[in-house]
Amino acid sequence: MLVYVYFVDGLLIDTGHSNARKMILSHLTKLPVEQIFITHHHEDHNGNLVALQKHFQVPTYASSLCTEIMKNPPSISFSQWLLWGKTESNNNIQPIDNQISTNKYTFQLIPIPGHARDMVALYEPNEGWLFSADLYIYDYIKFCMDNESIAQQISSLKKVLTLDFEYLFCAHNPKMKDPKVNLLRKLTFLQNFYQEVSNWHQKGYGPEQIMDQMSLKRNYWMRFISGGALSGLNMVKSVIRDEYNKLTS
Ligand SMILES: [Zn+2]
Repeated sequence: MLVYVYFVDGLLIDTGHSNARKMILSHLTKLPVEQIFITHHHEDHNGNLVALQKHFQVPTYASSLCTEIMKNPPSISFSQWLLWGKTESNNNIQPIDNQISTNKYTFQLIPIPGHARDMVALYEPNEGWLFSADLYIYDYIKFCMDNESIAQQISSLKKVLTLDFEYLFCAHNPKMKDPKVNLLRKLTFLQNFYQEVSNWHQKGYGPEQIMDQMSLKRNYWMRFISGGALSGLNMVKSVIRDEYNKLTS
């Protein structure tokens, strides 16, 4: 999967897949990197962090939660390891939760959990920039990981839609024109999906039956190559889990 790494005024935002290390290092090591920020603990964002820390000897920052997770990253299946590589544990990340500054810019750090519980966006209000990590990706999604929360993604999308920005620096699909249109499409898609799953669930249907009722296609190939890490069924289960958490919290 294509992943973007951003560099602005000495600040490197994320480090890309380890699978693409050679290519990424050949470009990044030429840059005057002064500090690194990791948006969340997924491997495609921190896969080259250790190598870059060795090269640049500059401070690395992330949210408190990401810093904790990175000390002891969750284990992954063999297929995930083949597909993405494993997140290397890292004790050299300093927690910051409010803002990060460069010479010219100050980025507010906005928690945007859902896709990952530790994920944050970097918002530069004066420039109208939002570095949104994996919040957007596309107008809709057909599968997700087993620990994602659709309800939290909906809240995070609503939160960023209240901000004033012109450019969306998504880690997989940047949008340089009217990005809020795309974010709104994603929000609408997730809200409708959530509502429909929860309606079927309230009628007593289980996850597999809900897949059938909503005519959701089962992408066995995706489920197989990701070792079950990515599937449409995970999206349905996420809504059921969110509903359960709502009732018990
Ligand atoms: Zn991610």
